[in-house]
Amino acid sequence: MKPRDRLRIAMQKSGRLTEPALELLNRCGLTFRQSRDKLFCFGEGEPVDLLLVRDDDIPGLIAQGVCDLGIVGRNVLNEYRLTGGLAGPALAEWRPLGFGRCRLSVAVPQELDYRDASQLQGQRIATSYPGLLGEWLRERGVDASVVTLAGSVEIAPRLGTADAICDLVQSGGTLVANQLREADVLLESEAVLAGPQALPSDERGDMIELLLKRLDGVIQVRESRLLLLQTSRGALDAVIRLLPGGPQPTLLPVAGQPDQLMLQALCAGEVSWRQLEEIKKAGAREMFVLPVEKMLA
Ligand code: ATP
Ligand code: ZN
Repeated sequence: MKPRDRLRIAMQKSGRLTEPALELLNRCGLTFRQSRDKLFCFGEGEPVDLLLVRDDDIPGLIAQGVCDLGIVGRNVLNEYRLTGGLAGPALAEWRPLGFGRCRLSVAVPQELDYRDASQLQGQRIATSYPGLLGEWLRERGVDASVVTLAGSVEIAPRLGTADAICDLVQSGGTLVANQLREADVLLESEAVLAGPQALPSDERGDMIELLLKRLDGVIQVRESRLLLLQTSRGALDAVIRLLPGGPQPTLLPVAGQPDQLMLQALCAGEVSWRQLEEIKKAGAREMFVLPVEKMLA
């Protein structure tokens, strides 16, 4: 294959991951002109192009060297590692991307009182993830028969072709509609940036490193929150102890109230209502949680 001088990223052509993946790349400063056949998108500023394909094809395209990177669910990447990709080059998960979150779970009929995997012994389990399910069963010493289906896995128990299923779950609504219930989680999944285990040693490797740095910045900002609050000097220690992670808070005096301080803290993740309530109980008031738009340390 002739060497390419532009980076090529594979992503899902149309599906749950398409919009958030494009938005993430845009935030990294990458913009694309969509070609008419919509398979290939030419990058406008940086030498980075997109290949729009079915998500299932993404790991294989990276393994074959057709694409340098891919944005794909961890579920698809790990299944490929255990099945199609066994003979090829190893693939790595370079970054978790924080969208497309779901679980790969075993679900059983609602009336079954599930306690552990041993109850699946001798059962028929329908799935589109025979690799991941097979490994999970093996690790637990359970001998079950894995029925591989390409889609509509959730109706197999009603059709009588399986006793349980192993499928992706987000809210659980599909399971309830099919009189099933989530019994065990095999994998917590989200979209990831996948690539070869070793970066190419040419300019494409440098471009990947640059992209990873931008991605890290974008992801960090997206998850950061600025917490503002007022507290008395007396309650300060108790309040600080409850602050969710991040660097040391900044303290400012409050005009006309010598006993009061204004506190400003950068938090590494979401701040929950429960955390706010706890901090308030410790003596804080006038609390604000703000999203962070850009950050340059
Ligand atoms: P394609 O045509 O590309 O093969 P698909 O039907 O396999 O599409 P989608 O349903 O768009 O794919 O899901 C893509 C990915 O989104 C999944 O592999 C998974 O990582 C993630 N995902 C998040 N929530 C869910 C969910 N509730 N059901 C299925 N996938 C989900
Ligand atoms: Zn798919």
